Amino acid sequence: MAWICTQCGEVGRRKYVVSGSILIEAVLWLLFIIPGLIYTLWRSTSGRYVCPKCRGPMVRTSSRRGRKLVEENYDGQLAFEQTTIGGAITRFLWTLVVIGVAILAFLLWPAG
Ligand SMILES: [Zn+2]
Repeated sequence: MAWICTQCGEVGRRKYVVSGSILIEAVLWLLFIIPGLIYTLWRSTSGRYVCPKCRGPMVRTSSRRGRKLVEENYDGQLAFEQTTIGGAITRFLWTLVVIGVAILAFLLWPAG
């Protein structure tokens, strides 16, 4: 599922961000257990999905607003869809290369 940012037109996956800060959480835990627990619970339930670039809200490219945004930003063409598939293939090939090198290293490793 592709998403488009309503602010900067970035297309891709949304990023999940948790609210609050790990620092405050740590301090609360160190000083007071109960507020720390409450803060942790609040953080774990109040995350949201945002644009990875500008942290703006994102909508589905298949939605009415999303299609409009795609038209405005990309002339209705999403080169992104292809690059995603290309990226997946590249990642897959790299995984194969890494596994191949690992097997080679294992086979050529001097025994004993
Ligand atoms: Zn954005």
